[in-house]
Amino acid sequence: MPESAASFSAVVSGLTDLTHDVRSLTLQLEDPGGIVFQPGQFVSFQIQRPSEKYATTRAYTIVSSPDAAGEIELLLNLVPGGPGSEYLFTLHPGDRTRFRGPFGTFVVTPGTTELLLVANDTGIAPFLSMLRWLVEHEPERTTTLVWALKGRNDLYYKEELERLSARMPNLTSVVLLAEPDPAWTGPIGVVQPVVEERIRSVANLTAFLCGSTSMIRDVRDLLRAKGPCQIYREPYYNDVQRATASGAQ
Ligand SMILES: Cc1cc2nc3c(=O)[nH]c(=O)nc-3n(C[C@H](O)[C@H](O)[C@H](O)COP(=O)(O)OP(=O)(O)OC[C@H]3O[C@@H](n4cnc5c(N)ncnc54)[C@H](O)[C@@H]3O)c2cc1C
Repeated sequence: MPESAASFSAVVSGLTDLTHDVRSLTLQLEDPGGIVFQPGQFVSFQIQRPSEKYATTRAYTIVSSPDAAGEIELLLNLVPGGPGSEYLFTLHPGDRTRFRGPFGTFVVTPGTTELLLVANDTGIAPFLSMLRWLVEHEPERTTTLVWALKGRNDLYYKEELERLSARMPNLTSVVLLAEPDPAWTGPIGVVQPVVEERIRSVANLTAFLCGSTSMIRDVRDLLRAKGPCQIYREPYYNDVQRATASGAQ
């Protein structure tokens, strides 16, 4: 099994629609038949559209645990018109694909620091891999997960987070909805105030921030205001650039 980035061929072995625009895809590795990676790493796909001269490369985090080395699970958000997500949404069980990996330094390693995992939307992907690894190897590790989604129709992984919480006594998980319906009894809003309130001290903290650039910037700033700590960032898309380009303040 390759321990550094390599090229893989794989066959789609599972597909689950988690919401109207979020899908879980499982790839059974064929050649080579296994992958060694760390929880939080990603793989990349090259997409060649017939209308384009050059291929496009897109990154997708592995959400499965490194313990399941013969297959990988991906979490995909459909971005209309986007070459990467539209390609992966065309794949169905039995289809073959190729990717390269693993890549990235956004990884959790064994240790004693408290973990803060902050995500919006599919930014949860690396944290699923980390939690699936932690529950088997460091179930006592003090970990706070703060995850914001839009509405109740966008909610997924609820049962899995409950199962993980049941086996990880020091895991606190806060799932917020920005635009809930009246039946929602959980927390409402964005991640920033929750991080502000729950993280009193950063003295023994390792923070991982994944999702939009504005969320990552805000949470990084508020953590830095509390003192020095290790902060890892994995921006999936740039909403600051989009807001600036469209003239928004
Ligand atoms: C290290 C890394 C890991 C990633 N892992 C994942 C993953 O596990 N799952 C996943 O779904 N994506 C992930 N992404 C994002 C992914 O690589 C693509 O950028 C995304 O799928 C959009 O690509 P596209 O070609 O479909 O659309 P593009 O043409 O690249 O994007 C079109 C527009 O949509 C915006 N956009 C891109 N992604 C989103 C989003 N999630 N929500 C809202 N707007 C968006 C872009 O900023 C752009 O303006 C990751 C990105 C990085 C850098």
